[in-house]
Amino acid sequence: MKMKAMRFYAPGDIRFEEVDVKEPNDNEVLVKIKAALTCGTDIKTYRRGHPVLIKHTPSGFGHEFSGVVEKVGKNVIGFEVGDRVVAANSAPCGKCFFCKRKQYNLCENLDLLNGAYAEYITIPQRIVEKNLLKIPTGLSFEKAAFTEPLANVVHGVERTGINPGDTVGVFGIGPIGLMFARLAKLKGARVIVAGRNPLKLKLANEFALADEIIDIKKYQHPEKIFKSFTDEGKGLDVAVECVGLPEIWEKMFSIVRRGGTVHFFGGCKSGTTVNLDTKMLHYDEIKVISVFHHTPEYFRKSLELIANGDVDVNKLITARMPLEKTKEALEMHERGDAIKVLITP
Ligand SMILES: [Zn+2]
Ligand SMILES: [Zn+2]
Repeated sequence: MKMKAMRFYAPGDIRFEEVDVKEPNDNEVLVKIKAALTCGTDIKTYRRGHPVLIKHTPSGFGHEFSGVVEKVGKNVIGFEVGDRVVAANSAPCGKCFFCKRKQYNLCENLDLLNGAYAEYITIPQRIVEKNLLKIPTGLSFEKAAFTEPLANVVHGVERTGINPGDTVGVFGIGPIGLMFARLAKLKGARVIVAGRNPLKLKLANEFALADEIIDIKKYQHPEKIFKSFTDEGKGLDVAVECVGLPEIWEKMFSIVRRGGTVHFFGGCKSGTTVNLDTKMLHYDEIKVISVFHHTPEYFRKSLELIANGDVDVNKLITARMPLEKTKEALEMHERGDAIKVLITP
């Protein structure tokens, strides 16, 4: 069987090709893709490659998707042809040093699945067993495709420790920042967001339902504006960085209150470093947290939040493109002309 797929060859070189569908073995499931989403990680990979995500080239590309089961290996239990499903892009091994300590997101054997920008994808055994879920009746494929990106954010929010009434500031409102802001609202926090892109600022209002929205183009020191919105001007209870730039990581200390928490949620380029004020870390008791990826528990919780309507993910789809236009879709996402582009085969 042949299919059309977007394949990654090298940074800057992705190609739309006809390739063989990888036949599922006895423990695998073949899924016909119905919806895929562009992601900032795919853009980084497209521009500079990715040592963890893509180890061998040419490779399938894209990792956020949902679809219908097309074939089922004979040892697979619980899935049938025709089931509507969503899969995560990884699953922990359950056996390594980190899995034994229940830090599943740090598993040493997270083999990341790529190939969402295609007509079909073969789901490997471990993901079939741990992170392939049926889509609840009535939930669309496009909404279900958000389960993976939202799972990262659910993980981030749950580990931050946000209490009702806290003032949470989110710096950077791409899809991840917007989802973080939305989930912080669901925790009962007062949420202040800052960004510069008009489309994202609009969604901060319509999707995240943020309480205060700061257009950083208007201010020379937007960090000061954050503080002006807090109780007695003391600073945020929780400051969240969703940009992934060391110079912005460093600014987070100036907007958090004594005893507050800074969450560095935007991953920076490897090899970069930051300077942090030791007095603030110690004498002001500023807690620092950074959370990566997701676990099966958060993947399930994410699908629940989408299914019950608490997170209206559809609003984040601001453009739609056919599979052959994936490259244009990624470039559009990169320019900030779309939040998420829905790709349909
Ligand atoms: Zn992603
Ligand atoms: Zn493991």
